[in-house]
Amino acid sequence: MNEVVLDAIGDRHTRAVGSGLAHDFAWGKIEWLVSDSLNQNAALTLGHVEIKQGAKNPLHLHPNCDEVLYLLEGELEHSVDGETVRLTPGSAIFIPANAKHDALNVGQQTAKMIVAYSSGDRQTIMLEEGEE
Ligand SMILES: [Zn+2]
Repeated sequence: MNEVVLDAIGDRHTRAVGSGLAHDFAWGKIEWLVSDSLNQNAALTLGHVEIKQGAKNPLHLHPNCDEVLYLLEGELEHSVDGETVRLTPGSAIFIPANAKHDALNVGQQTAKMIVAYSSGDRQTIMLEEGEE
């Protein structure tokens, strides 16, 4: 029964890591799985992010949405408005709108995480050189 329902909604609502909208950066990659451009009128955004060993994404903020990052694999030093916390797999961090933040991979492997935003149209202001 559930499989039939999933087949029926198919591509409109289902997207797996590896088939999302992927962007590669010097520090790693983001793959969007849900957003208002992928899912009409979606009021949230969800992505899968990888940060390379030893790499950091540029300091940035989101003026129009809160963010939650949930770490799947690896180890991060994550800053929020100048405070740094260490994240291990299973940890979630809440980043309010307009808080400056970045993540440094301090582990021995690629760090993998889920990121979610309270808007389907996540906006980003970069505060350092680089892209996200
Ligand atoms: Zn962010």
